[in-house]
Amino acid sequence: RAKKRGPSKTIVFAAETNAVRTGQIQLETDLRHAIENGDLELHYQPIIDLENGNSIAFEALTRWHHPIHGPVSPARFIPMAEESGLILPLGRWAMMEACQQLAAWQKSIKNTQNIYVNVNMSAVQLLEDDISRTVAHCLAQSGIEGRNLRLEITESALVANPEFTARCLHEIKELGPTLALDDFGTGYSSLNYLNSFPIDCIKIDQSFVGQVDRDEQSSKIIRIITMLADTLRMSVVAEGIETSEQHVMMRSLGCRYGQGYLFSRPLPKDDATAHLRKQFK
Ligand code: C2E
Ligand code: MG
Ligand code: MG
Ligand code: MG
Repeated sequence: RAKKRGPSKTIVFAAETNAVRTGQIQLETDLRHAIENGDLELHYQPIIDLENGNSIAFEALTRWHHPIHGPVSPARFIPMAEESGLILPLGRWAMMEACQQLAAWQKSIKNTQNIYVNVNMSAVQLLEDDISRTVAHCLAQSGIEGRNLRLEITESALVANPEFTARCLHEIKELGPTLALDDFGTGYSSLNYLNSFPIDCIKIDQSFVGQVDRDEQSSKIIRIITMLADTLRMSVVAEGIETSEQHVMMRSLGCRYGQGYLFSRPLPKDDATAHLRKQFK
């Protein structure tokens, strides 16, 4: 078909593809440099106890401000980092940075010993890094307690090599950290996973939360998830709460914790510090 359009079209098409590919490679190189030069940043989004409005934790989210392109979305650079292997140094950096930030908060702000930090962990890290060693190293270097670190994994991380992954997760748990299943409801959502892996917390994906005040089906599904979590003694966090209607609904559906723009966007570290000081003054 392409041939019938004539050679010039084909060439144009090929040239564009090349340009895209070159741009991609360049962006990958830039990301490698950003990691090496310490140009990445973490922002921290409060996770709220929906019963009293207090922040109980922060989710650490990586931010990359590209010198030419400006802010690049994690939706763009995280998949790229996973494909290129850069997620290994990026992931180690993020975990260390988050642990050290929490250590700094616990040192400078009274009564924050129960605050914890959530760090996203990709499947690649589980399969290719010596992940429990990385975790142990971050805990030792920062001095925070294991129980103050929560690792977020997605269901896709559990399918690739379930036996190996289960062993890794158990090793991590022996060091004290807890585990959250991220974006729950969007992946395979096999009930088997909840049984075979040592999960402490389910994070309901924002696609359900965003519908909860409009769509009866979503609220029914959420109700089932919170009942299931209760039975399995797991806690539940609603992701992406943007309106007070959603807040009220999620609470009434048995969801104790939440995060979202209604409460706070992910904050640069100084703003997160101010947020904590205000709560613990
Ligand atoms: P996630 O782990 O599910 O993180 C939640 C995402 O939802 C974040 O997007 C957050 O900014 C956004 N969000 C929070 N509240 C709201 C809301 O009320 N409305 C809307 N529309 N969005 C909200 P972000 O920061 O762009 O990150 C996207 C994804 O990139 C994350 O999804 C996570 O999967 C990945 N990611 C980010 N940082 C890291 C990292 O350091 N390591 C790894 N492996 N993945 C990361
Ligand atoms: Mg997450
Ligand atoms: Mg999520
Ligand atoms: Mg997500």
